[in-house]
Amino acid sequence: MGYMSRARFTSGEMMHPGNGVPWFFDAGSDSLEFAYTGDLARGVAEGERLSTPAGLGRWLSERIDRVDAGEVSDRDLSDALNLRSALTGLYLAAAQGTPLPADDIDTVNLYAATPDIPPALGGGQRQAGAGRIRVGQVLSTLARDAVEIFSHPQERRVRTCDDATCRMIFHDESRTNNRRWCSMEHCGNRAKVRAHRERAAMRRHQERDNEALPS
Ligand SMILES: [Zn+2]
Repeated sequence: MGYMSRARFTSGEMMHPGNGVPWFFDAGSDSLEFAYTGDLARGVAEGERLSTPAGLGRWLSERIDRVDAGEVSDRDLSDALNLRSALTGLYLAAAQGTPLPADDIDTVNLYAATPDIPPALGGGQRQAGAGRIRVGQVLSTLARDAVEIFSHPQERRVRTCDDATCRMIFHDESRTNNRRWCSMEHCGNRAKVRAHRERAAMRRHQERDNEALPS
């Protein structure tokens, strides 16, 4: 199974819209969560989180224990942005059901061909933290995550939120592949409330029509 069986190192994060209440979003894959460090065509000024090497270091160290976050270089940052741009292109195309851009595929393949974060068993005798993880290894792991995800286009697991006004993209990792919303609390509940209101309005109309009928 190799890297395909590895656990995700992300599990969602708080989103902070420019105007609105912060809400929790689980993108459903490491590579998509990474793509969401930028705007990803949401058209809202959420703020670029990778504007400096330190910003990249923060994002990484919040998710990966042994990463060399203090030594992130300008070169690391430009590598990360290059990969992120390719991931963004792939996720947008997949969500829209259009062919994956060949340039973006080439970029992801390049990163995936370099050494990733190796799997390791806990419980050994060597000190934890002995093997530091370089930024390049994380980028490779993210690229391999994307290779795995985009290798099964027929499953259509990369989709856009069901709310017509929401443009959030997610990767559905559920066994049943029936996730509908970017987040239940964000769009799912809104849809439930709307459906409830529509049913109530329908009932009111029917009652009025019944009253209008001659008895
Ligand atoms: Zn949504």
